[in-house]
Amino acid sequence: MSLHLFNTLSRSVEEFVPLVPNRVGMYCCGPTVHNFAHIGNFRTFVFADLLRRYLAFRGFDVQHVMNITDVEDKIIKSVGQTGRSLADFTGEYERAFLADFDALHCLRPHQLPHATEFVVQIVALIRTLVARGIAYQAADQSVYFSIDKYRGCGCHYGQLAHLNFEEMRSGERVSSDDYAKESIADFALWKARVPEDGDVFWPSPWGEGRPGWHIECSAMSMDILGPSFDLHLGGEDLVFPHHEDEIAQSEGAALQATGQRFVKYWVHGAHLLVEGQKMAKSLGNYFTLRDLLAKGFSGREIRYLLISVHYRASFNFTLEGLLGARTALGRLDELIAKLTELTGGVTATSSHEVLLDQFTDAMDDDLNVSKSWGSIFNWVHEQNKKLAQGTMSREEAASALGAWQRVDQVFGLGAAPAAEEAPALIKALLQDRQAARQSKDFARSDVIRDELKAQGWVIEDTAKGPKLKKVSSTP
Ligand code: AMP
Ligand code: ZN
Repeated sequence: MSLHLFNTLSRSVEEFVPLVPNRVGMYCCGPTVHNFAHIGNFRTFVFADLLRRYLAFRGFDVQHVMNITDVEDKIIKSVGQTGRSLADFTGEYERAFLADFDALHCLRPHQLPHATEFVVQIVALIRTLVARGIAYQAADQSVYFSIDKYRGCGCHYGQLAHLNFEEMRSGERVSSDDYAKESIADFALWKARVPEDGDVFWPSPWGEGRPGWHIECSAMSMDILGPSFDLHLGGEDLVFPHHEDEIAQSEGAALQATGQRFVKYWVHGAHLLVEGQKMAKSLGNYFTLRDLLAKGFSGREIRYLLISVHYRASFNFTLEGLLGARTALGRLDELIAKLTELTGGVTATSSHEVLLDQFTDAMDDDLNVSKSWGSIFNWVHEQNKKLAQGTMSREEAASALGAWQRVDQVFGLGAAPAAEEAPALIKALLQDRQAARQSKDFARSDVIRDELKAQGWVIEDTAKGPKLKKVSSTP
């Protein structure tokens, strides 16, 4: 099979055929840097990372672009409230975002364009739309996109969100970056300067002002990837208005070659929920990555949870779910540790591993991670059985390790952190316990075991004698 993805444009799973053979241009709407991102936001970025890694696994030469939205309505509001400069304010949250992004093992995109660095391209794009009669300056001095004019050119507004104009009540104009389908109306491309904007403004042919959010992504994506590119990603909440407006602006400027679209495949990730509701800053039902790290979870455990569910299925985030992810990952880590012990860390390239075939089949099917994890845990079971029976050769183990490493180039979980060395005092307690057991003083041996447990260490009796293991803290 070849890779198939669900395209929001056609609402169907389509074979993925890039515009230029073997090369993929992929744009994912990035964070609005006005606060710490929550793990719902990160679900979308981890999903983009997964797709990018899988495309690379399938041999495509991928160019992954993710913008940083460093000027829009919410940012301007926060900057006004804090009295800090725009760059100082957004710089802080961008650094925090990228630190979290790295902690979740997301590969840095090849380009991270900032909206504020693309004002020239944004103005040029608006100029083109004005010249084509699709955009106009209104009495408030802002420049708006005319939905009527765009539709008058035979273009289809609503193709992505599947809007039914006949059933809709349309408004005059909206100046805010975010609005609901019910208030479909001309939207702002360039927002005329108002006192609340403070120092945040740029000159333009229409007077001082700042760009609207939607035009930022059209200008940045087309400048870097060209007027037509393969993949555009984001969370499902971006379908309308953000992505619908991106299509309207980009195709309205008519920069594409005849017969070409702005974007060939639109792929959207479902939301991470909390008790059935979208995890959102505005609802106050969110966890940041930092909240979870402070509870003792690791970036790879959180990543595992986020990639354990299909990207088009929404799911509820719970701490119990995260504990389940820890257990599942622990099983996998245990097997990898045993295989590594058997081979002394030697791996072998294995193109015929059943693990790889099943993985590829499942992932080609619209990134079916559920199927993929199902076959991986069957494989874990089989390998453990062979290890327990002593029927696994070193060569087999090396080949199994090699196959897992290829799978993990896509899942990006990385190796388990090395076991923590016990401090001298803890080791001394273990020796006391061994001495107590040898002299058959089991009551004392139990007291010492409880003392170790209270200090966060458990004893695991192995064939090579007792081993100390740090217990990870639980929330
Ligand atoms: P923002 O920084 O608000 O522009 O959002 C960044 C990305 O996070 C966008 O692609 C959103 O669609 C996505 N997003 C926001 N909330 C959630 C959620 N609860 N689950 C998954 N993705 C989300
Ligand atoms: Zn965007």
